[in-house]
Amino acid sequence: MRDTTDVIIVGAGLAGLVAAAELADAGKRVLIVDQEPEQNLGGQAFWSFGGLFLVDTQNSVA
Ligand SMILES: Cc1cc2nc3c(=O)[nH]c(=O)nc-3n(C[C@H](O)[C@H](O)[C@H](O)COP(=O)(O)OP(=O)(O)OC[C@H]3O[C@@H](n4cnc5c(N)ncnc54)[C@H](O)[C@@H]3O)c2cc1C
Repeated sequence: MRDTTDVIIVGAGLAGLVAAAELADAGKRVLIVDQEPEQNLGGQAFWSFGGLFLVDTQNSVA
């Protein structure tokens, strides 16, 4: 795994997925692990009704 992965992210919630996307954009090889099965990808964001406020967003996007 040392030869195939630059970063291991524990947790496939919003924070982990965003970090993975940023790292992939920077050319890093990322492995994401989560305690939940694949169908629960997204952590709490899966249940958050799409009304997420994120840094630098102007308004609700719900
Ligand atoms: C019903 C509901 C509605 C919401 N509505 C809004 C909203 O309207 N607006 C808003 O801004 N926010 C809302 N939120 C909050 C928002 O969804 C969360 O704050 C955000 O998704 C958290 O993201 P996270 O990546 O930090 O954590 P999480 O989504 O909790 O992700 C953590 C991940 O890590 C995994 N994990 C934890 N421990 C381990 C371990 N030991 N080993 C392996 N994996 C592990 C978990 O399985 C999970 O997938 C809502 C949340 C809920 C539940």
